[in-house]
Amino acid sequence: MRIGIDLGGTNIKVGIIDNQGNIIAKSSIPTIVKRGVDLIIKDIIGQIEEILDTANIPLEKIKSIGIGVPGLVDKKTQRIIFATNLFWQNVKLGEIIEDYFNKPTYIINDGIAAALGEHIAGSTKGVKDSVLITLGTGVGGGFIVNGSIYNGGHGWGSEIGHMIVGENFYNCNCGQNGCWETFVSATALIMYVKKRISEGCNDSLIVKMVEGNLDNINGKTIFDGVKKEDKLALETMDRFIKYLAIGIVNIYNILDPDSIVIGGGLAKAGSHILDPLKEEVGKRVFYKGVKYGDIVLAKLGNDGGIIGAGFLDTIPSIIP
Ligand SMILES: [Zn+2]
Repeated sequence: MRIGIDLGGTNIKVGIIDNQGNIIAKSSIPTIVKRGVDLIIKDIIGQIEEILDTANIPLEKIKSIGIGVPGLVDKKTQRIIFATNLFWQNVKLGEIIEDYFNKPTYIINDGIAAALGEHIAGSTKGVKDSVLITLGTGVGGGFIVNGSIYNGGHGWGSEIGHMIVGENFYNCNCGQNGCWETFVSATALIMYVKKRISEGCNDSLIVKMVEGNLDNINGKTIFDGVKKEDKLALETMDRFIKYLAIGIVNIYNILDPDSIVIGGGLAKAGSHILDPLKEEVGKRVFYKGVKYGDIVLAKLGNDGGIIGAGFLDTIPSIIP
């Protein structure tokens, strides 16, 4: 058995995973970011002890611990270089957990953990080369190449949300302009709708749906607008699909993966995204022989990150 942890900006999720990749016990506690590094690490340790206790599993049965983190991880030292949402810099998370439990401990970017989870137990099980794209507040992802994770020479690769795909009307949090996540994240959709409303699209149903309070616009409001054929919602959706396809075509043209998996909150829109996306990718991809049935939805949801993190010990490339 293994322990997998998904350390997010909102919740810390811990799971005990059996050798087949099934979660046999799971717990979630809020990440109280303002508690700071030391206390949050204490929270993680307490949560691991508690789940073992509740599930009545002795620590001796645990082979390894893996943690997916929302930030950049140094492959060699297994330290978090920075995790923007947590306000963490240069944190020896792997070392601290490893010393405390005396178990091999690995940390990795959360998008890569989720890609590995889908590869082990989800929609890309048995597929050698795949790319996971998570469309949420931001855009993340991970590459599985020849059955192993690929994250570059230093461990900083697969930041697909910061692939530059054009010029945009606002800058990315990273300081650049034109990053993919400023076009295809939930945040991006909201920013675009607000911009168009400020330019005069006040008659949109979206404005009515939030009773004039534009701060209440979210991904769901926009997709509800699409279903009601609201003009602004449809325009936003067209722009979203166009840029989602541009990024995916870049990935296809560079990597030629067997499967592209779409996960994250926006993936809940399912076929409303997949069908037009496949059509748009078909128009733009270099090699027209690509099979678009291989753009699929993630199966594991939030569990993917826990399972993938738990199985990091099976991946030789991350061992320093
Ligand atoms: Zn960026």
